[in-house]
Amino acid sequence: MSSRTIVLASRNKKKTKEVSEILAMVGFTVLPVTDFPNVGEVEEDGTTFAENAAKKASQVARELNLWVIGEDSGLNVDALNGAPGIYSARYSGEGATDERNNAKLIADLADAADDKRGAGYICSVALSNPAGEIRVACEGTCRGRILREANGDGGFGYDPYFLIPEYHLTFGQLSSVVKHRLSHRARAFAKFIPLLMNISREF
Ligand code: IMP
Repeated sequence: MSSRTIVLASRNKKKTKEVSEILAMVGFTVLPVTDFPNVGEVEEDGTTFAENAAKKASQVARELNLWVIGEDSGLNVDALNGAPGIYSARYSGEGATDERNNAKLIADLADAADDKRGAGYICSVALSNPAGEIRVACEGTCRGRILREANGDGGFGYDPYFLIPEYHLTFGQLSSVVKHRLSHRARAFAKFIPLLMNISREF
């Protein structure tokens, strides 16, 4: 594997696409963990995004004996005391899909007034060496507001409901170029990339 290739411990295709596009801008190729069929599922039993990101990175790194990025992200809604938080992907329970998660979010916020619908996306990123040791860890956040109706079909997850107030548009409507500058993931990777560069000669 070339020194500019790195494994991402995620099975989420749209998230993997975003991370691949962000790292491509600095010359890194991302291989999804799904390219390695023998790698087991990582149980996300941490209590924070950072713990889950680190666990994904180090477990997969040890299994593959490669450098691996773990990424854990989600949505904290103020009026729901931070829910769905680390449970964002499985908010609607067993067999959760983006559609069902969005439907639950909108139902849970039905009584929240327009000025009480603030929310923040969080993204934690961790880099593990092949021994499973975390060498880099960073976090990025992005504030917005949850709309009552979906707008746009770009992005993924909660994006069609997540309004960026400065743009008067949701992440479902904004282009990927804009999302790659403003998002929690973009901000986490803006911190991560220089640190990755610093140690990439060890790869
Ligand atoms: P993870 O794969 O366990 O980190 O869960 C991520 C979940 O958080 C996704 O399934 C979405 O529900 C939500 N999420 C994280 N980042 C985004 C984003 O950029 N847009 C929309 N939803 C996101």
